[in-house]
Amino acid sequence: MSDRRLRRRQGTAGTDNKRRADGPHDISGLLDGVSVVLLDIEGTTTPITFVKDELFPYVRSHVRQHLEEHWKEEECQEDIAALRKQAKEDKEMDGVVLIPECTTDDDEETRRKVLSAVVDNVLWNMDADRKVTALKQLQGHMWRAAYQTGKIKGEVYPDVVPAIRGWLETGRQVYIYSSGSVEAQKLLFGFSTEGDLLELFSGHFDTTTGLKVETESYRRIAKAVGCDPANILFLTDVVREAKPSREAGMKTCLTVRPGNAPLTEEDWANYPVIKSFSELACNVSPTKMRSRGKAAT
Ligand SMILES: [Mg+2]
Repeated sequence: MSDRRLRRRQGTAGTDNKRRADGPHDISGLLDGVSVVLLDIEGTTTPITFVKDELFPYVRSHVRQHLEEHWKEEECQEDIAALRKQAKEDKEMDGVVLIPECTTDDDEETRRKVLSAVVDNVLWNMDADRKVTALKQLQGHMWRAAYQTGKIKGEVYPDVVPAIRGWLETGRQVYIYSSGSVEAQKLLFGFSTEGDLLELFSGHFDTTTGLKVETESYRRIAKAVGCDPANILFLTDVVREAKPSREAGMKTCLTVRPGNAPLTEEDWANYPVIKSFSELACNVSPTKMRSRGKAAT
């Protein structure tokens, strides 16, 4: 990216390193009065590239193998039927791949023909970056199998778990709010690079609660966790999410991680910013950690 474009993305004043290094916001009191920490995933607990660079390429390279292995299973046949129905609806679109009818009793030649059509259909949908339910459904089933068999691990930054344990030790609760489905969230944290982390969370929210750019969603979450918004701290990398959460009355902090979209000067001026969860870590004494046994280690 050219310097000029970079400056435009970062704000017209360009980079003010001194101000950034000092940080216009004091974050030392950010956890004061906070009883619930609400976490975004991509760009916050997890590299923003995880979905793009790991999950999606996995589907592309393993879709044929997945169909071969699960062909006779009801769930797999339902996934194929959903893609076939979607393809019929898309028949006017350029390059759409229709999927012939099939049954699990078909001969080998028919099966192979249908299977290839499904693979081509999935790749066509992914190339076009389509968000249709039929595609998401198959992807979700493939990722579930991949997590469960250890082919994929949910990437979680190493500073995340120690900070969460500190928040829990100091009586706080931690929830997740992500655009990815609750099921996908649970797979990511249940089979993560840091082990099974699900016991750390009191609950999960996804877009069934509302879009992350809408103020009402954050009000709903506050209600659901039974907490005044003022006692909730939301961590996210996206200003379009930080703004509505603040409008709902939550405390908000932006996270800067490698690969995240750069923040503007205005963002740095408007929000507290952290580069690691360790900046918000609570100091829990080693004695207390030991006395709580294995769960606190
Ligand atoms: Mg994010």
